[in-house]
Amino acid sequence: MLGNMMNEQLLISGVLEHAIKNNANTEIVSNTIEGGIHRYTIKDSAKRSKKLANALLNLNIKEGDIIATMAVNSYRHLELYFGISGLGAVLHTLNPRLFPDDIKYIVNHAEDKYIFVDAPFLPIIENVISDLKTVKGIVVLTDKEHMPSSSIKNLICYEDFIDDESEEIVWPEFDENTASSLCYTSGTTGNPKGVLYSHRSTVLHAWYATAGNAMNLTSETVLLPVVPMFHVNAWGIPYASFMYGAKMVFPGPFTDGESICNLITSEKVNQLMGVPTVWLDLLNYTEKNNIKLESVNSVLVGGSAAPKAMIKAFQEKHDCFLLHGWGMTEMSPLGTLNSYTPEMDSMDLEERYEIQTSQGRAVYGCSMKIVNDEGEVLPNEGKTFGRLMVKGPAIIERYFKSNETALEDGWFDTGDVATIDTHGYMRIVDRSKDVIKSGGEWISSIDLENTAVGHPGVAEACVVGVAHAKWDERPLLFIVKNGLEECDKDSVLDYLSDKVAKWWLPDDVIFLDELPHGATGKLLKTGLREDYKKHLMK
Ligand code: AMP
Repeated sequence: MLGNMMNEQLLISGVLEHAIKNNANTEIVSNTIEGGIHRYTIKDSAKRSKKLANALLNLNIKEGDIIATMAVNSYRHLELYFGISGLGAVLHTLNPRLFPDDIKYIVNHAEDKYIFVDAPFLPIIENVISDLKTVKGIVVLTDKEHMPSSSIKNLICYEDFIDDESEEIVWPEFDENTASSLCYTSGTTGNPKGVLYSHRSTVLHAWYATAGNAMNLTSETVLLPVVPMFHVNAWGIPYASFMYGAKMVFPGPFTDGESICNLITSEKVNQLMGVPTVWLDLLNYTEKNNIKLESVNSVLVGGSAAPKAMIKAFQEKHDCFLLHGWGMTEMSPLGTLNSYTPEMDSMDLEERYEIQTSQGRAVYGCSMKIVNDEGEVLPNEGKTFGRLMVKGPAIIERYFKSNETALEDGWFDTGDVATIDTHGYMRIVDRSKDVIKSGGEWISSIDLENTAVGHPGVAEACVVGVAHAKWDERPLLFIVKNGLEECDKDSVLDYLSDKVAKWWLPDDVIFLDELPHGATGKLLKTGLREDYKKHLMK
């Protein structure tokens, strides 16, 4: 027997209309490319999203047309989030840090019709425009006064584009499974693959990922998402902020420690969200300048593992809880969060930090299991590790334009290797391609990296497995020094010696000025692995 309730479709335009009626006066603050702070409300933002949608209709944009953006976290990018998807067109966020060949491939593969770009990224588009087969026009996200000169003819100015349009629109209604946005994964091998989100997956994800025991967004939240809006819809935050009336503070192009710190102080930000590298910079800046982040209650860290030293620094220097999360592009992205629990009240801090280094428990909306290579389910006792498989309404079923399912018996293989304990806490051991196989046993490169950054002279660490005559593979440790304390090979190995198993100790420590990062800020290990593949065979 079916239930008797309404089959109301979950649409992004519905989130916008809810926000206009209920959270109209919530502020949105942006640090701008043109200079200075821009400040307006959800009501103002929604009006401009509607003007934009009307302007797109004048260009004959239809349901299913794909419109690209290459932009920082800022109010105009936010207007595109709602204006494009509201029409049933697809918001395709492009990562400006990708290599030109990847950008060409992605734009052509997606068949983007227009590209909305921030002025500083225009040279990237100029460089590839002659190879973009489907793009009809480029809109620069600025006003007339700040329009850059360009080799591209007929550039459109965003403010002119929307200026004369009506602030009213009747949003089209369509099936909630209609595509709403598109993001390509920056895989290290092969061509990037597109993840095509739907209105339903986007609304459901924003809803569950930011609920009470998860990201916990409320109308009292003042959040600063450094996580880019060009990657996985900034973890769903723009939609969720409109649902709950949480104030957003956008850093614009300025994500260095000093700029972020100033914005936190001036806007009294209480929640931060971003990948670990950004916070390293912020922590260094506050340390050097003796600043305490008084207003901040929690920092959501995901995208890479949060090292214990970072968890400790936020807690002990800033009285701020590090909320460790895990997820991926294919999962919209959130899968797990390590939320504060009542049990933590009675724990000593070291015990709590240890728990916080785990990626946490599944949010409602994500089921998890670990399996061996044969697909057999492994026990959840916190020790056995296996391939981490997930399932849920905001998790990919197939890649964009692929005819094959991406699933194995209905589950998606995350490519991560993990343990799950009896309470549901999941711990990432490694990416399956990064785990080091030494003499048939596995060494976690992530564990070694996280332990190494606890050394007072280490800013960043990276571990890769390289060929070894006897053990097949052995770990090499790469270090970037922070200049705060003496740091050499012996002191690093000595520091690690009582913290990891003896046979895990890296065979060599190599000091570099910087480590290679991919387009989403993650360590890029492929190059290092290749450059040093014979290092231990000499
Ligand atoms: P992406 O799709 O580019 O966001 O990358 C997703 C991958 O990042 C995951 O499959 C993990 O390997 C890694 N990742 C994300 N969050 C964490 C975390 N908290 N700890 C360790 N690895 C993480």
